[in-house]
Amino acid sequence: MSLEELYDSEAFRKHGHELIDMLADHLSVIKDHDGKKVIDYVSPDENYKNWDTAKLTSPKEIFKAFLDNSIHLHHPKYMGHQVTVPAPMAALAAMEGMLLNSGGAIYEMSAASSTLEKWVVDQLKGYFGFDQGDGIITSGGTLANLTALICARNVKAPENVWVEGQTEKYAFMVSEEAHYCIDRAVRVMGWGEAGMIKIPVDQHYKMRTELLEEYYFKATQEGIKVLGVVGSAPTTSTGIYDDLVSIGEFCQKKNLWFHIDAAHGGPAAFSDKYKYLMHGAEMADSITVDAHKMMMVPSLTTFLFFKDSKNSYKTFAQKAQYLWSAADEEWYNYGKRTMECTKIMLSTRIYTMLKLYGVEVFEAYLDQCYNTAKLFADMIVESKDFDLAVTPHSNIVCFRFMGDSTVDTNDLNRKIRNEILEQGQFYIVQTLLKDKVYLRVSIMNPFTVRVHLEELLGQITLIAQRSLPK
Ligand SMILES: *Cc1c(COP(=O)(O)O)cnc(C)c1O
Repeated sequence: MSLEELYDSEAFRKHGHELIDMLADHLSVIKDHDGKKVIDYVSPDENYKNWDTAKLTSPKEIFKAFLDNSIHLHHPKYMGHQVTVPAPMAALAAMEGMLLNSGGAIYEMSAASSTLEKWVVDQLKGYFGFDQGDGIITSGGTLANLTALICARNVKAPENVWVEGQTEKYAFMVSEEAHYCIDRAVRVMGWGEAGMIKIPVDQHYKMRTELLEEYYFKATQEGIKVLGVVGSAPTTSTGIYDDLVSIGEFCQKKNLWFHIDAAHGGPAAFSDKYKYLMHGAEMADSITVDAHKMMMVPSLTTFLFFKDSKNSYKTFAQKAQYLWSAADEEWYNYGKRTMECTKIMLSTRIYTMLKLYGVEVFEAYLDQCYNTAKLFADMIVESKDFDLAVTPHSNIVCFRFMGDSTVDTNDLNRKIRNEILEQGQFYIVQTLLKDKVYLRVSIMNPFTVRVHLEELLGQITLIAQRSLPK
């Protein structure tokens, strides 16, 4: 094929229409999913072999193969990991961004996406009490958390680590239930295992903030300088929000950086009903919010908000003469403030949602998912066969089938989850809480309703009864 043919606009039009038609048909799974699987699980090795021998020639066949070999988030029986069910307009905006390929470090190369990066941050920062603040959009919560911690070190460390390297020992205090990427971030920064001081959780899986003082004192005695505390809003396993007010007060008292990892549940701030969960956010220095979790925007699209706009320039105090001048705070050259240099057009997909539907649409989505999780928790409590790990704060519900004394409950629940995966009618995951295996559901799909949840519990009961000794 010639390069001229490769870029032919009419071929693009034709195959683009085919693709959109196929995806539009696929979207009907929201309403009509009888007999359709959420996931058609095949082992990784078998999958590799299938792709290796696949006879795919046309774009249509290739695109269809991607669809057929993917998990279907739009299926209302998808209740697995916390990845959003993308809104069609957000996905179309993202698709446009892929062809324009105009995002990035410097304004000239990204006029729309850089300007809108500021605009969407300006629209949303006030919900977190950051009216005077600022923010960036970056590729994922993992990267946003690392960015926040690097900034915290630059602001709070007693030496100029960015220029001279570090000679002291530093740490962040964080709940033992925090997402593993916090641990990864402190190790990337060279703080080692001791760089993450894990605060135990109470029986509701919340950080025991009354222990902060004691752990802080102990670290100081050991010559470790605590630079800040990370609150989870919520934690990943159980979906429980930390007491952000208590953490905020502690940080103020000790002059520490307060970062909130609200990758999952930050958008509760947009909801009249659930914004109480984010109470205390206004005391934070920085907040991570994934738009690809509870904002219907495709992955990876993550906000990192800063309460003090100046701090957003302190993460990467670096000069690159070929990209930008030495002048300090150019809001429009985002490469100064993000880990990425070249960047995907991220702001345009959020702008599309905000401009077309307003922030209320994020509230509607979050309320729907959180309400359905509460309903599910009530159903579990009412059933004698199931045990609920903790009353949910969010759309994450952990529960287990109890069985009887003749079986190992952990084995039983592992088996249940494996069979559910292999059947493919539902997609749920599992987690380990205090050495107990729990089934874990995240209500990510706003079209998941009571009948689906009843069916799920019925299916689990069937599998369990087959597994129990007669
Ligand atoms: C999902 C999640 C992360 C990781 O975010 P990615 O966008 O997947 O990199 C970090 N922290 C919490 C609390 C999360 O829920």
